[in-house]
Order: sequence, then structure tokens, then C-alpha cells
Amino acid sequence: MEKEIEYRWCTYCMIKTKQEIVFLPKIPTYKRRRKYKCTICGKMTWLQGRRPSAESVY
Ligand SMILES: [Zn+2]
Repeated sequence: MEKEIEYRWCTYCMIKTKQEIVFLPKIPTYKRRRKYKCTICGKMTWLQGRRPSAESVY
């Protein structure tokens, strides 16, 4: 299984960086928090997942 990568704001780098999702909740909905790890500085942050594009219809 490949690692999921998302571009998220890193509070340490102060830029949008590639962030590896290191923790996904068992029921992954956009409301639940995921743990991201910045691939630049290695800082881990808890962020809410982005709303999946599949749900943007309503
Ligand atoms: Zn960073």
C-alpha cells in the first residue's frame, strides 16, 4: 500500500509542503482528524482531512 501524500500547510516550514498521512482513523471521514508528517522537516501535526471531492456534489 502506497503512502498517502497531501499538500498541507506546515506550521513549522510556514509553507505548503508534502505531508505524509501517518495515521488514518478506522472510519476515514473528512471530519475526523488525521496525523500528517511533513516530508520536509518531519514535524507531525493533527489536521482535519479535506472533504473528499466525491462529496462536493451537494
Ligand atoms: Zn514542515
